Amino acid sequence: MTKYVFVTGGVTSSLGKGIIAASLAKLLQARGMKVTIQKFDPYINVDPGTLNPYEHGECYVTEDGAETDLDLGHYERFLNTFTSQANNVTTGSIYQTVITKEREGAYLGKTVQIIPHITDEIKRRIKLLGESGKFDIIITEIGGTVGDIESLPYIEAVRQMQWELPEEDLIVIHLTLIPYLKAAQELKTKPTQHSVKLLSQEGVFPDIIVCRTEMPISEDIKTKIALFCNVKIDAVIEARDASTIYEVPLLMMQDKLDQIVLKKLKIENDSVPNLIKWNNFLTKLKFSKTKVTIGLIGKYVELQDAYKSILESFVHAGAINDCKVTIQNIHSEFITAENVCEKLTGLDGLLVAPGFGHRGIEGKITAVKFARETGLPFFGICLGMQMAVIEFARNVLNIKNAHSTEMEATCSEPVVDMMEEQKKITTKGGTMRLGSYACDLKKNSLAHQIYGIMQIFERHRHRYEFNNKYLDQFEKNGMIASGLNKQTDLIEIVEIPNHPFFIGVQFHPELKSTVENPHPIFVKFIEAAKKYSQAKNLETADLKQS
Ligand code: GLN
Repeated sequence: MTKYVFVTGGVTSSLGKGIIAASLAKLLQARGMKVTIQKFDPYINVDPGTLNPYEHGECYVTEDGAETDLDLGHYERFLNTFTSQANNVTTGSIYQTVITKEREGAYLGKTVQIIPHITDEIKRRIKLLGESGKFDIIITEIGGTVGDIESLPYIEAVRQMQWELPEEDLIVIHLTLIPYLKAAQELKTKPTQHSVKLLSQEGVFPDIIVCRTEMPISEDIKTKIALFCNVKIDAVIEARDASTIYEVPLLMMQDKLDQIVLKKLKIENDSVPNLIKWNNFLTKLKFSKTKVTIGLIGKYVELQDAYKSILESFVHAGAINDCKVTIQNIHSEFITAENVCEKLTGLDGLLVAPGFGHRGIEGKITAVKFARETGLPFFGICLGMQMAVIEFARNVLNIKNAHSTEMEATCSEPVVDMMEEQKKITTKGGTMRLGSYACDLKKNSLAHQIYGIMQIFERHRHRYEFNNKYLDQFEKNGMIASGLNKQTDLIEIVEIPNHPFFIGVQFHPELKSTVENPHPIFVKFIEAAKKYSQAKNLETADLKQS
């Protein structure tokens, strides 16, 4: 029998419901339980695939090709398990299902309403994962803040489920903020009292209150929160700001969040959470012996959430390499042939990020040229790989008009072109080449050395591809295709064997890096950056001596 944990948020957004949900899931998983997390987003878009990264950060793609909220990335990175389409639900997708059913005549004669039709569909989606029988506990994060008009149907669905299920099968955790007023030198509980009151007015009574705070919460404050929010003191959990998100499971364990959840769900489990791998990772992360600086070239660099998975992949790869990775964000729009040297000197590796559209393209191409010519370790992801292809065509093969038809539809030398199957698609949203595809590696290539196996599976999100018409020319001149999807003949990886580390991948390896399983390309890229940095330091030392 599956049990349900809901996580709601109060007072303000961005309190880290996703991290709290993932941390709780990690602790329960470490006790041997089967847990998954799902996210409900109260916006009308059917999925976040059509959202600009400035609006909603990175779009996270699952194995089965769903374009989802970036919190699913946290779930996978913490739990080291895959999520799927069913783990992310939006208001748009709920309404789409209900309206489609209405058009099919499923509610014939009835007025279709928020209650019961929308709430029934929400409940069906909540229970869908549970029906697979694969999970002991499903943690559902309700996006937005309590009191928002948009989240009302979700809170109502939780209320109904609370009424329908036995008490020990469903609990609600409310995450709230306890602000610290510097002038008064006091932590304030009033906003929390108000948000719990609001939630109660909507019919949902939280079982556990998790308090985000900058300062430690005293027993007195806990008692006050407990009294006004109608929970026992042991159900008031302190969530202090942590130096890294990966520390949060340990903080939650210290304050016994997992124990109170198990108690309330009446689950007997006195095993000690097995966090050996997790703790090893944290130790390595905190006590790194070396450091490298990686340049991240993108056009959304001012918004860190736009490259969330890439940044986290560097954290994982850095830890395993005993190396602190500092990311230097470089806006591609501001790189020119004149300033590239000044902008990129001092880096130990260069990553050109994924993206869409032509803004900042020439800056990316200029940056790739610098890395190719100077031997700086280079890693291009999706659009980053396509830029490497264009750069090589223009500057090595001397095809001056080389471009992608994404940027120049009538380009005379389309070294990157739209995939054949994409040409007939006119609608947006879920229509790119999405999800996991096989890729066969070329024996003894850099890709083969990195993965150590001949066939890999990676996730995709793109419409354009390397144009195979030019392959011969590329390979004869030093850029080879080392990864191929045999079914479609799509080139998934390019590399320059005559360079210390130069790889471009059409897929998104950052989506599969987890704490316990850092992605091999990121790991080897950091290894190459370390080597590059050591060689650089030796050179400087030599120069000083002579
Ligand atoms: N815009 C490119 C394409 O659609 C690259 C996409 C990406 O970087 N995710 O092929």
